[in-house]
Amino acid sequence: MLDSLFNPVGVAVIGASGKELHIGNRVIKNLLDFGYQGGIYPINPKADEIRGIKAYKSILDVPGQVDVAHMVIPAKFVPMAVEDCGKKGVKHIIINSGGFSETGPEGADIEKAFLEKANAYGIRIFGPNCQGIINSDPAVRAYCNFTFTFPDAGHISIVALSGGVAEVIHQGFSAMDVGTRIYASNGNACDISIPEIIRFLAEDDGTRVIVTYVEGLKDPMGFFEAAREAAAKKPVLAMKAGRTMEGAKAAASHTGGLAREDLATDLIFKKAGIVDFRDEGHLINAAVAFGSQPVPKGNRVGIITNTGGPAVIATDILVDAGLTLPPLSEKTKSLLTQKLYPEASVSNPVDVLATGTADHYLACLEAMMADDSFDCVLVNFVTPFFVDTESIARAIAQVNQQQIKPMVCNLMTDRRQWAETEAILKAGGVPCFALPSDAARALGALVRYRDILDREPGRIRSYVDVDTDGARAVFNRAGGQQMLSADQVYEILEAYGIDVPEWRMADDIDGAIAEADAIGYPVVLKADAGSVIHKSDMGGVAVNLTDADAVKKAAKKMKARIDAQDLRFFVQQFIPGGREVILGAKAEAGIGHLIMFGLGGIFVDVLKDVVFSLTPVTDAEAREMVDGIQASALLDGVRGEKPVDKSALVDLIQRLSKLVSDFPQIKELDLNPVMAFEKGAVAVDARIAL
Ligand code: ADP
Ligand code: MG
Repeated sequence: MLDSLFNPVGVAVIGASGKELHIGNRVIKNLLDFGYQGGIYPINPKADEIRGIKAYKSILDVPGQVDVAHMVIPAKFVPMAVEDCGKKGVKHIIINSGGFSETGPEGADIEKAFLEKANAYGIRIFGPNCQGIINSDPAVRAYCNFTFTFPDAGHISIVALSGGVAEVIHQGFSAMDVGTRIYASNGNACDISIPEIIRFLAEDDGTRVIVTYVEGLKDPMGFFEAAREAAAKKPVLAMKAGRTMEGAKAAASHTGGLAREDLATDLIFKKAGIVDFRDEGHLINAAVAFGSQPVPKGNRVGIITNTGGPAVIATDILVDAGLTLPPLSEKTKSLLTQKLYPEASVSNPVDVLATGTADHYLACLEAMMADDSFDCVLVNFVTPFFVDTESIARAIAQVNQQQIKPMVCNLMTDRRQWAETEAILKAGGVPCFALPSDAARALGALVRYRDILDREPGRIRSYVDVDTDGARAVFNRAGGQQMLSADQVYEILEAYGIDVPEWRMADDIDGAIAEADAIGYPVVLKADAGSVIHKSDMGGVAVNLTDADAVKKAAKKMKARIDAQDLRFFVQQFIPGGREVILGAKAEAGIGHLIMFGLGGIFVDVLKDVVFSLTPVTDAEAREMVDGIQASALLDGVRGEKPVDKSALVDLIQRLSKLVSDFPQIKELDLNPVMAFEKGAVAVDARIAL
């Protein structure tokens, strides 16, 4: 569908200009200078030629096929020009001009008007208010864009709404002499969307890695689906900006207060299998490595160096990123002992010494490529004046070109004096970084993608014991309520097979005593009223009541303290001795719900030791959540404590995920706490807000 956008046979520029500093001139210059082979058609009613190319008064006068028409004209003329393009049979329009939805309602109306025309003619719109596209494929060389960075042909494709960031990333590759394959920055994205472009790039054989940048997602689910499909085929690297923590929210629930503003995007990235970044420099470096290297089979790295300290720095970063440095196999060890200088350090990292030669590097590289102990290689290379650095570079490039295992190189040099050494490495496709930590982080990113590919697929469990109709009846009864009452909440939990202690509702003190008698002692008494949120804070919880008298006293006290017309008593079986954990759910517009899990008490309030997942939570994700909190070891039991039933928690997370997925009207749901026992887990407090 987007094929003729990125591989256009002819490009017209509506609003072509003779003025050097005009976008309508620059696009033509870029097409010419970049070596675009297709037809270039400047459209200008007053000019005969622009930049030496015949101009046409109207797009309808153009003799050849036009796949892409740029529009560099005032917004108000765009709808009419789109009509002309329709008559001409133009397939795509890149609207560089601004003045549309980004400016307010008037502009939005124009955007709507031209879109209607475009739809009628089957024209796809790129932009408006955008840069455009570049395709550096040597067979195409389309520079349908007014920017100024000419990429070499390459394997990295960039897609982003923000032209500024797309260009910075692009320049990052250029600065490292690394090519870009396809570049697409679509501004307002009123028609052709980021997800659609990601799908196209996933199918594009020339694209080895997809890089994207987002500030907010226009269509979170569309992005998620496209990214997930793409990430299964090739690495998708993304960065989200706007990461400041949401200010302390006076949210009534923990889940609401703990969910960071951009958490949903993080979770979409994670669930889709995106390799995510928080720093554009790291993103650029990783993309460079992905652009030329195979994906490692595992996380075991071998380091070759001719200088000590930088290898130490790299090691720290690699280990932090989850890589391991296994020892050399006996075979590699004895081989290198023979080949290297006697003073060389034959272990991992291998230090060939500053005097190490090309033969030494070659021996190490070949040995590590053959040694099954390693999945990838990091090469540190400082360029001393007393060795033939160019032949070392050739050795590294030669092994790299065999593409046996991924490698990255930390080239430490004066790039002006050792330009040829650097050029040899780069021509050989070796990703070269000036800093050991940059090289190490790039390698770390390759391994992260391996981990993503190896993720357990996970399954969304279906439950035969869930009574959706029963729960629906309760929601229907709730009508316009914003907060469900305790009895409603517990009925719903029971309908979804979530364990709760035996409970009963009472309208007054005598009723509470009668219900407590019926349940059997000890019981817990809780105040239930619309205005009561944190019950214990208001004196609304009395635990371990062992007889009717205790219930009576507690109920009287509650009634005196809590002045609410709708006050009722919730009586519940007292179940002591469990480990308190917290589960929650929070609706996220356009995505579903975030599900939260953590240990209760200080772990939530002080340490914020909680994990989140997006609905629908699979079995694998639920397990990852339970194992994923920092204090997870406490669940396994420390210092003689009994372990808790993790499988019950995993089951509970999935039931909760199903409940909120079935009832999207649930705004927030808290189970705080759930008592986790050696066998089973029971929710003793629950809230549902609609
Ligand atoms: P709130 O969170 O509104 O203050 P809870 O219902 O969570 O009220 O009760 C406060 C605390 O009392 C819980 O965190 C838990 O430690 C304890 N608790 C409540 N219900 C029970 C119960 N049925 N069995 C044992 N302990 C309970
Ligand atoms: Mg509670």
